[in-house]
Amino acid sequence: DRRQWELDPEELILEQELGSGQFGLVRAGRWREKKVAVKMVKEECMSDEEFKEEARVMMRLSHCKLVQLYGVCTQHAPMCLVFEFMENGALSDYLRARKGQLSQDTMLGMCLDVSEGMAYLESSNFIHRDLAARNCLVSKNNEVKVSDFGMTRFVLDDQYTSSQCSKFPVKWSSPEVIRFCKFSSKSDVWSFGVLMWEVYNEGRLPYDNQTNAEVVESLNAGLRLLKPRLAPTSAYQLMEWCWKEVSAGIYEKR
Ligand code: ADP
Repeated sequence: DRRQWELDPEELILEQELGSGQFGLVRAGRWREKKVAVKMVKEECMSDEEFKEEARVMMRLSHCKLVQLYGVCTQHAPMCLVFEFMENGALSDYLRARKGQLSQDTMLGMCLDVSEGMAYLESSNFIHRDLAARNCLVSKNNEVKVSDFGMTRFVLDDQYTSSQCSKFPVKWSSPEVIRFCKFSSKSDVWSFGVLMWEVYNEGRLPYDNQTNAEVVESLNAGLRLLKPRLAPTSAYQLMEWCWKEVSAGIYEKR
């Protein structure tokens, strides 16, 4: 039944622009006394019929470490996706703005928040597919929540769809995702390791002096991201576990 996730546009008030993303403009707003972020989807950017089917599933996902989808307005163009408002914006920007000021407890706490959101997604049999610091948001109380889960499936931009393409997040992707787009909760774990690396490098981009092709080559050679200066050995060990390939070479045998 569509009414469960269809919001009444009369109840939605749009306010200032927050930024723009893959699907178009993002605006602040209000919905039933709640502060919300509204993604206004450009038609040519999203396969919206497929998304409407999936919106029902996504709305059932509810956890304090996930950015909540409240509902969608699909009756008029542009289609609007209404999310929980996150006062402190994207985690990647938040980290860069606070370089040199983040304590060990804070950085570990950020990783813990994300791991809790991701454990919930896995237990719900839901694959994120694009976990990265840019796709996490920070609340008013400086809690980190996971956002944009599953959304890459609805992007209509050829540059995203294959690992050969310029916008594919190769630097966050596991070898089996790069080789044949085999997404799973395990490939989400790989991305989580890269997110931890971003946190402990205060928002630096991974492999920032390498092209995607060079990253693929060094991964194949067994190389990995180096230990961030601020990361304790135990935190780096966790990252390395996220990037373990079980019996390298099993994929080539098929
Ligand atoms: P997309 O994932 O569709 O490419 P983003 O999620 O990156 O778009 O949104 C673009 C920007 O809008 C973000 O960098 C952030 O500043 C802002 N934004 C997105 N969602 C929210 C939210 N729930 N609360 C507050 N700001 C948000």
